[in-house]
Amino acid sequence: MTNPTAAMLVIGDEILSGRTLDTNTQHLATRLTQMGIRMAEVRVVPDVHEVIVDAVNTLRAAYTHVFTSGGIGPTHDDITADCIAAAFGVKIGIRDDARAILRAHYDRSGLEFNAARQRMARIPDGATLIDNPISAAPGFTIGNVHVMAGVPDVFHAMVAGVLPTITGGAPLRSQTLRVMRGEGEVAAPLGAIAADFPELSIGSYPFQHNGAYGTNIVVRGTDGGMIDRAMIRVAALAGQ
Ligand code: AMP
Ligand code: MG
Repeated sequence: MTNPTAAMLVIGDEILSGRTLDTNTQHLATRLTQMGIRMAEVRVVPDVHEVIVDAVNTLRAAYTHVFTSGGIGPTHDDITADCIAAAFGVKIGIRDDARAILRAHYDRSGLEFNAARQRMARIPDGATLIDNPISAAPGFTIGNVHVMAGVPDVFHAMVAGVLPTITGGAPLRSQTLRVMRGEGEVAAPLGAIAADFPELSIGSYPFQHNGAYGTNIVVRGTDGGMIDRAMIRVAALAGQ
């Protein structure tokens, strides 16, 4: 498949400890699939400078786009913007347009625009701001890396703002067949189908229903005719 690719970098100790369930990845993956961008890798990293910098540099070299979530708030553990600047080897400082957006937001809310809140106006040199219609503090895009908030509502809003600015690919289609046979039985013929259709991704997802074993077989790809031909073989397998 020649579709653009993407990686998600989930940043935050709270995900690794189990305190917070990562829902941002599923949201992004769904949106990307709809626009023909293939999510190829997801990494979850702690709030540790070198680990974040390494991950950003590895992922941005490997994929068309990298999306990050988390660590752009006002507290000491919100270090994502500094890590991105370090990864790109650029300076970071308070940016006037970002500060103006935040100041207007806090003036409207009657809250003090204190030093912690001003931290959220620190943006790496050369980045483009990503609008935050919910809580004002902007995300940013630098190179092929899109840096967004962790709070799910804000992450969703930022994704909605960023995706129209990037190029999608041929729509990724999928068909699913529910087969009332266990995975162990369908494995060999399914492997043969996968070998005959190397351009498709063929997934096998087992389940149990009323004590019987079954398998959902999902065929994904960009060529609808090819998916149809593979599904005919999958359907034959179901009847065996
Ligand atoms: P942060 O921007 O890292 O300070 O995250 C702010 C809040 O957003 C966290 O306290 C979590 O509740 C939530 N959050 C962060 N990352 C995620 C994620 N990947 N999925 C869902 N919620 C998240
Ligand atoms: Mg955090």
